[in-house]
Amino acid sequence: MLKFIKCKALIDGTGRPPVQDAAIVVRDNLIEQVGTASNVQAPPQAELIDLQSMYVCPGLIDAHVHTSFNGEAEYWDIVLKQNTAYRVLTSLRNVNADLLAGFTCVRCLGEKDHLDIDLRNAINRGIVQGPRIVAAGQNITVTGGHADVNLAIDITCPQGLGGVIVDGPIEVRKAVRQQIKAGADLVKLLVTGGVMSEASVPGIQHMSFEEIAAAVEEAHRLGRKVAAHAQGTEGIKEAIRAGVDTIEHGHFLDQEAVDLMVERGVFYVPTFAAAYWMTVGEIAKRIPPYAARKAREASEAHARSFEMARKAGVKIVCGTDAGSPGNRHGANAVELELLVQHGMTPMEALLSATRVASECLCISQTVGTIEPGKLADLIAVEKNPLEDIRAFKEVRFVMKDGEIVKWTTGSTSDVFDRQSPIYQPRLR
Ligand SMILES: [Zn+2]
Repeated sequence: MLKFIKCKALIDGTGRPPVQDAAIVVRDNLIEQVGTASNVQAPPQAELIDLQSMYVCPGLIDAHVHTSFNGEAEYWDIVLKQNTAYRVLTSLRNVNADLLAGFTCVRCLGEKDHLDIDLRNAINRGIVQGPRIVAAGQNITVTGGHADVNLAIDITCPQGLGGVIVDGPIEVRKAVRQQIKAGADLVKLLVTGGVMSEASVPGIQHMSFEEIAAAVEEAHRLGRKVAAHAQGTEGIKEAIRAGVDTIEHGHFLDQEAVDLMVERGVFYVPTFAAAYWMTVGEIAKRIPPYAARKAREASEAHARSFEMARKAGVKIVCGTDAGSPGNRHGANAVELELLVQHGMTPMEALLSATRVASECLCISQTVGTIEPGKLADLIAVEKNPLEDIRAFKEVRFVMKDGEIVKWTTGSTSDVFDRQSPIYQPRLR
């Protein structure tokens, strides 16, 4: 299977300037040649894919999603009432919405019953269509932590918010080993409180240093990275000192936290989309008041934290927390827009969802840029994303693993457009 793709311009995800009038040869699922159309020869028998009105970029990566969450206002309810089978089905729909939005890879950070791992396997074996999934399996939380839902003390919720509830380094180690036994690509710890859990204060550290360090030692020994949900300053710094690899959310950074992240090469996944959706539109009226208040309070600090991190050169990665209230799968590109609104250039935002994200997910050998030898994950958009990052909200063409999974030419106006932060009604 040979394909010869011609496009208006290629933005290859390495950070180099765009190549005008570019061509790409895809053989089976691999990128074979890349260059200007005059330098790349169309191989005989190659199928011509004419994207000459479009800008081609690497398939995007969303480094923080929850596959089975649908953006409901009170997802506790859903988590507690739905069986895993139902959540697998919603997951399948959700990750396909991500894929068709141009996100050819997602990192799932916490699911019930390791369903993200099985979904990943089913996709990889070609049983169902979907993006590449990097899966964490169950969240690891402590008693009363962010994923230990607020039930009466005598009601046991064995899986909390789909996570595993542990106390003390020994239990933490066991939980890490269980995730890896189940096939997790990495481990996700809930180090501090969060916005959506009633009793928790986002700033407060729940997991002790010893517990985090035990998880990191165990995961690293088994060749896995550790992602830390960490919002408050002390929790963030304790997590970094204990050796975690990525900070998720990171609302309240200070200079010391930022310096530690640079020094240790820790990635920052701010997930602006999560708080954004909780503070705009209909959903803001439907989420619990404590969550709306916490989301608002955290937003200002979050913007300052991001600015500090960006100035210091922290590696920043695009992640949406898709599935959290109002934060629908398929609307992932809003995070790119928010990254730009918070100060990134469009190129920086693009890199945060391509090359830098692929490094964060440890898959940079195979995806993240458009270069010979890499897997053919490509997307195309009509407008120049380096002039207007919102171009990614209308992805026209998606190729994953050499297969075209979407190719539309007409203008589409869907739910996502109407929910856009800067939506302008289109004149017809
Ligand atoms: Zn999350």
